[in-house]
Amino acid sequence: MQKIDLHSHTLVSDGSLSPMQLVARAKEHGVEILSITDHDSVGAYEQLNCLDDGLTIIPGIEFSTQWRGVGVHIVGLNLDLSSEAIKQGVAEQEQSRRDRSVLIGQRLIKAGLPVDMARVSEIANHSNIGRPHFAQHLVELGLVKNVATAFKKYLGSGKVGDVKQCWAELPQIVSWIVDAGGVAVLAHPLKYKMTRTKLAALLDDFILVGGRAMEVVSGQQCKTEVESLVRLCQQKDLLGSCGSDFHQSSPWSEIGAMTAFPDNCLPVWENW
Ligand code: AMP
Ligand code: MN
Ligand code: MN
Ligand code: MN
Repeated sequence: MQKIDLHSHTLVSDGSLSPMQLVARAKEHGVEILSITDHDSVGAYEQLNCLDDGLTIIPGIEFSTQWRGVGVHIVGLNLDLSSEAIKQGVAEQEQSRRDRSVLIGQRLIKAGLPVDMARVSEIANHSNIGRPHFAQHLVELGLVKNVATAFKKYLGSGKVGDVKQCWAELPQIVSWIVDAGGVAVLAHPLKYKMTRTKLAALLDDFILVGGRAMEVVSGQQCKTEVESLVRLCQQKDLLGSCGSDFHQSSPWSEIGAMTAFPDNCLPVWENW
């Protein structure tokens, strides 16, 4: 069975490896088809060179949006990176990310936390700032014991540092992907903790504006979770995708490591 990983991150967003390190690690772990899907950026692809043997790379991105007040992620796969659509989309989302990072900083400071924005930017390698970079800063300041606690107390959904409604809306996000010749994929559907009815409504809206696939496998999932997502995929006539959502190596997370792709689901990578 082919090893396929269509969702991963590098230092260009909130991952821990450079694009070339990620590619090398993917090869070591036997990945045959890889997509680097950094948050709201395709900068990783400018840093790739000497790509020869064994590994097919599918140009991708993970866009942030919101739907009915919930932060939702849409992966775009098989993109034409030279298209005006993707350039426009990235430019707008990167601006939103900059504006958002200022707001997050202001909110945390107002809440009494001594946040240093220059330091947060440094942690983000002067690239796009995300909440994980704020989280790391709060850890180094000794305000929380780890990143998970930083999210739980300050940055997670509904907390002071969670700035909502700052991204382009779902129809715009899907249009950028489709206009760039790509396929729009709903990322990690179970992470939103929606009821099945609400998730089905999200998928209906997503499909209406051109969405064609969803991740039926995101990292390690149990059998019943995969089965339930496959049923939803079949009901909605969607293609299935899979990815590790790799950010950094740990005993629980590795590039290419995820639950097996089900055999009763149409793979997006065979149906671009
Ligand atoms: P942002 O792109 O700024 O909205 O940050 C979202 C990212 O934060 C996700 O892609 C994850 O990498 C990370 N993240 C979200 N929730 C948590 C959490 N509870 N603990 C650790 N990291 C998280
Ligand atoms: Mn992330
Ligand atoms: Mn995501
Ligand atoms: Mn991701």
